[in-house]
Amino acid sequence: MMEHPENSEEYKGLTVNAGIEQPSIVNPYLKLRKKPKRKEYSVSEFVEGIVQGNVTVLSQAVTMVESLKPEHQAIAQEVIEKCLPYSGKSVRIGISGVPGAGKSTSIDVFGLHVLEQGGKLAVLAIDPSSERTKGSILGDKTRMEKLSVHPKAFIRPSPSAGSLGGVARKTRETIILCEAAGFDKIFVETVGVGQSETAVHSMVDFFLLIQLAGTGDELQGIKRGIMEMADGIVINKADGSNIEKAKLAASHFRNALHLFPTPDSGWTPKVLTYSGFYGLGIKEIWDMIDEYFVFVKKNGYFDYRRNEQAKYWMYETINEHLRDSFYNNPTIETMLMAKEKEVLNGQQTSFVAAKHLLDTYFQLLK
Ligand code: GDP
Repeated sequence: MMEHPENSEEYKGLTVNAGIEQPSIVNPYLKLRKKPKRKEYSVSEFVEGIVQGNVTVLSQAVTMVESLKPEHQAIAQEVIEKCLPYSGKSVRIGISGVPGAGKSTSIDVFGLHVLEQGGKLAVLAIDPSSERTKGSILGDKTRMEKLSVHPKAFIRPSPSAGSLGGVARKTRETIILCEAAGFDKIFVETVGVGQSETAVHSMVDFFLLIQLAGTGDELQGIKRGIMEMADGIVINKADGSNIEKAKLAASHFRNALHLFPTPDSGWTPKVLTYSGFYGLGIKEIWDMIDEYFVFVKKNGYFDYRRNEQAKYWMYETINEHLRDSFYNNPTIETMLMAKEKEVLNGQQTSFVAAKHLLDTYFQLLK
């Protein structure tokens, strides 16, 4: 008998054995083990973790803010209230632009630029369409390649459920939590298509509008209201053969802005060109924003705007709750369908139908 059969000529090494069938489960006990539950924090644990700058706790608190469950909402509201005294000490910047304008590319470089000066940056978003598109905005963190791996940056996609007002309120509340966690720079991104700009404008100190040079008619596609909200307009992709076009677009915007009355801030919005991709003109944009902050802090507009926003959100929240309470009332829900039909059939006018519904609702409250 040979001592080492594998040395025999018979064995060529590297033989391929026939595979065996995979068992459906390797460890039969594995199935029984539940996924470890995420730790459930108490209100004080949340607040403590947030104030210490613990990003895991912060993320979970934001999840509570975004949750539709009443018990989560109750915790969230308490956490927010306890975090309020620690909030407010940041610069909040809204960044808007149509898809493809270069928001993510720009936020990546803007973010790195501001982080060079120290501090921490939170990037939030308001995207009312994210329910449909499953988080087109910021849904994919890799859109901000460098920031997403930066230890001082916190990126959070848009809350997706609910109305624009609801989505915006959640982002506004998330700002408070981020500030309490020591994030002293907040970017709020939104897609430049209308309504969401107003929402972002209502929670930031500076509103930056990213535009592209077009074919000379770039002003046509942009709504006057959005331009009036802008504290700065920046024309992206001013690189290569596009530089001249970008400069021309900038002068168009400057001319158009001259036709508007001076905003309440007393600050005349500036128009600059830059390239997010090549990192050109970034410092100039940030110098402009710094200049704005010096200007509005001196003339009192900074505090005035924040107070106005606080007022706005109080009324917004009241409106949202009243609306929810009305529309989620079971009696009203069934009545609504019938009333709608009556209005459509011409059996009742819109006003009478509305009054009838409201009267019923108020009666139910008594
Ligand atoms: P978003 O949809 O507004 O977030 O836009 P993205 O940041 O995803 O950019 C859209 C496209 O424009 C991408 O292909 C970018 O590479 C490109 N892009 C962004 N910034 C610049 C720039 O400064 N110059 C040039 N040439 N291309 C850019």
